[in-house]
This record gives sequence, structure tokens and C-alpha cells, in this order.
Amino acid sequence: MTVSALPSNYTPAPTLLHDRVILVTGAGAGIGRCAAITFARHGATVILCGRTVAKLESVYDEILASGGPEPAIHPLCLEGATETHYRELAEQVTDQFGRLDGLLHNAALLGERTSLANYGAASWARVLQVNVTAEFLLTKALLPALRQATEASVLFTSSGVGREGRAFWGAYAVSKFAVEGMSQVLAAELERTSRIRVNCINPGATRTAMRAAAYPAEDPATLKTPADLMPAYLYLMGPDSRGVTGQSFDAQR
Ligand code: NDP
Repeated sequence: MTVSALPSNYTPAPTLLHDRVILVTGAGAGIGRCAAITFARHGATVILCGRTVAKLESVYDEILASGGPEPAIHPLCLEGATETHYRELAEQVTDQFGRLDGLLHNAALLGERTSLANYGAASWARVLQVNVTAEFLLTKALLPALRQATEASVLFTSSGVGREGRAFWGAYAVSKFAVEGMSQVLAAELERTSRIRVNCINPGATRTAMRAAAYPAEDPATLKTPADLMPAYLYLMGPDSRGVTGQSFDAQR
């Protein structure tokens, strides 16, 4: 798989995402939390999607306190949600905003860190449901709203283990390969028939709860923070990457 290069020393304009409506999944913690706050700081109205309402409320408060546009909160558990839940979410987005300019697929489950020989079937199904099937269903439901935008950006979140298989990464690695594939399929389908761009980003090792769970012996102070990644996320979500679609990027060099 080819990994495309991001512009070096990208400096986003303070109003880069002014008037844009962007939905972020897993907006309550880690990279998603930081992305939601950063998008709002650059002018976006953010729809905070996640499974823990208290965490989403804390992000909501932080955005308002910093003078950002009032976000919307949409609680959704990607493990249990059905097509009806996604349809309801899409209806709310259309009723409230009339369009969707950006969609960041960020939420994911790590699952077990064990061999395929020992991997539990139930755990396998959960990881693929949250990391792959939910992203398909959410995208499908939101496509009409994305089509209403003058230009829209869909960003999937991959991983190094979604590009080269590694022992003991199980369903998580398989799910991230699937995410890369879904991003390519969707980008190809939409390239000539819409103004929707679709790309994939690999955050790289980042100081979050997921990383700590995967590498408990690692010193978190040695890792990049979610804030360090934000120029890449802003570039791909905003108009400076206009015309870029069907590509996969590393947020860290
Ligand atoms: P975190 O575990 O810190 O955050 C994950 C987020 O996803 C949380 O907000 C969590 O909600 C949410 N989430 C998990 N399950 C569900 C669910 N069933 N329904 C709704 N929301 C759910 O992870 P990171 O911030 O580290 O990861 C963000 C993305 O980056 C993921 O796609 C991950 O695979 C990818 N990534 C991360 C790397 C890293 O080093 N951190 C490296 C490579 C890729 P809650 O807080 O309520 O549990």
C-alpha cells in the first residue's frame, strides 16, 4: 500500500473550518476528543458522537468555554447500534444542519492482544462490529447529508497494523486492513459522482488510553500527544486538501 506524504510544516488558518459541520466518533476521549476540540477551535460546529455521555458533555463544556461554536451531542454505542439508530442520527443532522461537511471515523476497540489460535469469537465479532461494520453503517446513513455539502471530507482512522500484519494484533489488525479497503472503495465510488473526498489516516503511536492498554510497559512521556497530530487532521478535513481522495496518510513522519 502506498502512503502519501502530507505537506511539511502545514499551518492551518485559524478560520479553516469556519461554518463547517463535522461529526466525530469517539469524541469523548483520546484523539477523537482532541480532534473535536481542535475542529471547533478552527470554526467548525462539531457533532460529538460517542458512547459515554459524561465524556461528551465535558468536551461540549470545553468547546463552549473556549468560545467555539455550540456543538451537538449524539450518544451512540457503535457496538449495539442498528440501522434505525443510524437513520435517526442522519435525520437529526439533516434537520438541524441541512448538510454534513466532515466525518471523522475515529472510535475503535483494541480487543484482545493474543494469537489468532487463542482469539475469542465473541471478542472478534465485537471488534469488527465497532471498527468496521459501524463505520460502514454510519457512512451509508450519512451519505445523503454529505452530498448536501459544497465539499465534504470523510476521514477513516487506520493503523500501522492495518498495513502490515503483525503477530498478536488479531481482530484489531484485520479491522484496520478493512478500514483501509473501505476508504479506497468509497473514494473510488464517489470520486466522479460527488464532491465528497475520502481518505485514511494512521495516527501512529500516540499518548492515549488505547496505546497504554496495548503497551503497558511503555513510558507515555515518550509518545506524541493527540495535539501533535492535529495539523494532519486539519489538513485532511479542510479545504487545503481539496482534490485529495483515495489516499492513506501517516500523521507522524
Ligand atoms: P481511545 O481508546 O483513547 O479512544 C477511543 C474512543 O472510541 C473513545 O472515545 C471510546 O469511547 C470510543 N469508543 C470505543 N468503543 C466505542 C463504541 N462501542 N461506541 C462508541 N464509541 C466507542 O483510542 P485512541 O484515541 O488512541 O484511538 C483513536 C483512533 O486512533 C482509533 O481508531 C485507533 O484505532 C487509532 N489509533 C490509535 C493509535 C494510538 O497510538 N493511540 C495508533 C494507531 C491508531 P469511551 O471513551 O466512551 O470508551
